[in-house]
Amino acid sequence: MILKIKSEEDKFLEEVYEKAMKELDEFFELNWKRNRPNIYLIRDRKTINTIRKEETADWNVGWIGGIDVYILDKDNYEKESCHKYSDEEYANTIKHELAHSFTKVFSGVSGKPKWLWEGLAIYLSGQLKQRKRLEKLTNFLYFYEARAVEGVYEESGFAVEFLVETHGKKKLLALLKILKEKDTNEEFAGKFKEIYGFDLTYENFRVL
Ligand SMILES: [Zn+2]
Repeated sequence: MILKIKSEEDKFLEEVYEKAMKELDEFFELNWKRNRPNIYLIRDRKTINTIRKEETADWNVGWIGGIDVYILDKDNYEKESCHKYSDEEYANTIKHELAHSFTKVFSGVSGKPKWLWEGLAIYLSGQLKQRKRLEKLTNFLYFYEARAVEGVYEESGFAVEFLVETHGKKKLLALLKILKEKDTNEEFAGKFKEIYGFDLTYENFRVL
């Protein structure tokens, strides 16, 4: 398919981008200065579907390709998705996708374990504030493989919040460093125990 793109100057988005990159860089300690991600603003659902080569759901507004971020243009945000637009939520969505870029570059693994992949992006982007705080965690471990599953967003951010806030980010980064793309769920659980010293089970997590 053919896409016509042009560069754009947008002071708001440039500030959002620089702030997100700075904060994510502090977390991952990557010192990412060269070959940083591009942000592609996609004007409508039809173009999203053309790029993705599938019919996408109306909640789906952003993704990464390589290390670059693709996001539905804010000018068409409410018309072409089910979300209400606000500057804060839009900025959080960009930071969410950039968190995926950082995770991918840092770990060399993309999209799995799905709960860790999404949970980290939700936690780091500030999107937990938009979510109803749960009583307990009961299903996030079900989401391991990389394919997009809507339910993964419910609990995973709280699971990652628990890991980072009670056990520190160093352990989480250490875990990300030893991930391999071909790891099975069982192999991952073994690596998790090696880093954290406890089993990857719901009883060992709680919502803060
Ligand atoms: Zn995501």
